[in-house]
Amino acid sequence: MILESHIQKANLIMDLRSMGISCNKVLSAIEATPREIFLPSNFHSYAYQNNPLPIGFEQTISQPYIVALMTQALSLKGNEIILEIGTGSGYQTSILSLLSRRVYSIERLKPLLVNAQLCFKKLKLTNIISEVGDGFLGWPKLAPFDHIIITCAIEKLDDRILNQIRVNGTCIAPVGSPDKEQRLKKITIRNNRKDDLWDDLGKVSFVPLITNYD
Ligand code: SAH
Repeated sequence: MILESHIQKANLIMDLRSMGISCNKVLSAIEATPREIFLPSNFHSYAYQNNPLPIGFEQTISQPYIVALMTQALSLKGNEIILEIGTGSGYQTSILSLLSRRVYSIERLKPLLVNAQLCFKKLKLTNIISEVGDGFLGWPKLAPFDHIIITCAIEKLDDRILNQIRVNGTCIAPVGSPDKEQRLKKITIRNNRKDDLWDDLGKVSFVPLITNYD
């Protein structure tokens, strides 16, 4: 018997393809990852709908399409070191962990991080290093990274973060304040920083980055 969840998962993968996710490695990582384990039990049956869902503490697990879009935009080959700011449920972290060498992830809310770490253990993902902290300034001690992915909306992206990325690396981040329009930006770092490429990947809606710095 084919499980209902397998059918829902197959439908989700077809939806993602029709929305422009064409990288088979990204689609396979999504197919291999049980999204329900990242969710509170009352939302398990919605795990394979293409929607963001609440994970407590006024935070959300990202929509599978957005996770796929952000991951695809990194064009991962498998040997990259990535910094993620905003672990949340750990779902995006887990997808990245399957496609790269190591993922560092920082989350400001301890209970969310503890939950995410339990999920990494369940899935036997051993290349994730995660910590509680304010990621507004990145993780300078561990820089440089091949890529930085920010999964909460940042009002202004500046060199304090971008300086932590290697030449030809990228930063993917929702930029904008929560009450105004946010745009998903992909910044490719160039040797001559004046030549950095700023691509726009469309309108998005993320929870805000909250910080004690600024
Ligand atoms: N990709 C995640 C989405 C997490 S929502 C997922 O799929 O589950 C964004 C997360 O960013 C929230 O958990 C929030 O607590 C966290 N966050 C907000 N500001 C932060 C900061 N300054 N440093 C680290 N994490 C932060």
